[in-house]
Amino acid sequence: MRNNTCDVFIAGAGPAGLAAAIALRLRGADVLLADAQRPPIDKPCGEGLMPDSLRDLTRLGIPLEPHHGAAFTGITFASGETRVSADFPPSLGNATGIGLRRTTLHRLLLDRATELGVRCSWNTTVILSPNQPPTLANQPIHYRWLIGADGQASRLRAWASLESAHVRSRRFGFRAHYRIEPWSSESGQPHVEVHWSNLGQAYITPTGHDEICVSAMTRHPHVRLAEILHSIPTLRDRLATATPTSSERGCITLTRHLRRVTHNNVALIGDAAGSADAITGEGLGLAFRQAFLLAESLAPINPNHASLNLYESSHAAILALPQRMASLLLLLDRHPRLRNRTLHVFANRPALFRELLAVHVGEQTLPGVVFRHGPALAALLLATA
Ligand SMILES: Cc1cc2nc3c(=O)[nH]c(=O)nc-3n(C[C@H](O)[C@H](O)[C@H](O)COP(=O)(O)OP(=O)(O)OC[C@H]3O[C@@H](n4cnc5c(N)ncnc54)[C@H](O)[C@@H]3O)c2cc1C
Repeated sequence: MRNNTCDVFIAGAGPAGLAAAIALRLRGADVLLADAQRPPIDKPCGEGLMPDSLRDLTRLGIPLEPHHGAAFTGITFASGETRVSADFPPSLGNATGIGLRRTTLHRLLLDRATELGVRCSWNTTVILSPNQPPTLANQPIHYRWLIGADGQASRLRAWASLESAHVRSRRFGFRAHYRIEPWSSESGQPHVEVHWSNLGQAYITPTGHDEICVSAMTRHPHVRLAEILHSIPTLRDRLATATPTSSERGCITLTRHLRRVTHNNVALIGDAAGSADAITGEGLGLAFRQAFLLAESLAPINPNHASLNLYESSHAAILALPQRMASLLLLLDRHPRLRNRTLHVFANRPALFRELLAVHVGEQTLPGVVFRHGPALAALLLATA
């Protein structure tokens, strides 16, 4: 019974649950974590971590190195014959992104949590019955704070009456790995490549010296990864002889905005707390940022002083930009003419694409880019009106 007593109980030990556990433990909280699966936990993901996410991981005590996976130096968009590329901004120094298998990331997060003394219960579903306290292996859990990190279909969200939400987009995502040497972009280094077709997008992320991760998203319920790849001739040709190194996995990807993410002593984090479509590649970064905010909010673990007020009031700001980006990118998904026009504008104005990437990694603000490139953006909008 004593083992079920803690300051903070976290339901779900995916990246969000583990990051929250580490951030809270670093602030001195006694944390108990439970997950229905066994580690290392896999999940469909593009598996690319941008420089700002790597910085957050370092703050959690997990300094990722390229040898954990493979480095990439920027982003390339490709649609038909048009390609636009940008490296990460020089303000980041020589910082790269790193692609790594989801299971590797999970193992590294778990090793760090274990090192800090986070207690974990694996292969154990948190049972949430209406109007009943949560239980673990038929035992009640005694906590001051309860955190729902139980993913997109969070049951804790419904249990805590936080289900009121606005779902702005709903699509289908896939992931597979192939043995093939990551290829270089125009800059001579590997990039994360986002290929567009009328069926959806395919992301290519280097995850090793001889492996890439392919993830794809579509709004068409009957379309599968193979069809999306087939609709993109460059990828179809490159992957024709590459050996798959994992089995294909699929799941739903949503842009979901919740009215509230806390209720009394319960808070949601990660996909449970709202999300931006996978095309943004932001889910992990969002989870890390929320973990720091949650730990700051609960920093005085003394129950007389700690509260979830800061978390509730500042949470929306973390999701706002990725959700706006998701809306814009999904507009390009639905409107091929707008997509072609936009990529042409980017190709003719590489500085605009470079600065939008800088916004994405937190090095510039969107209003600043709009101010500098207003005429080009206005022309783009007029052309599509
Ligand atoms: C196709 C695709 C590509 C993506 N690409 C990227 C990308 O490139 N970069 C990026 O940053 N993000 C990407 N994402 C998003 C990212 O994968 C998610 O945002 C991230 O997994 C969210 O982590 P989480 O911990 O909140 O949820 P999950 O990873 O879903 O973890 C939830 C955990 O809770 C556990 N759980 C659920 N219910 C219970 C229960 N009752 N009891 C105990 N345990 C429970 C589950 O077993 C699971 O381990 C992508 C998503 C998709 C679908």
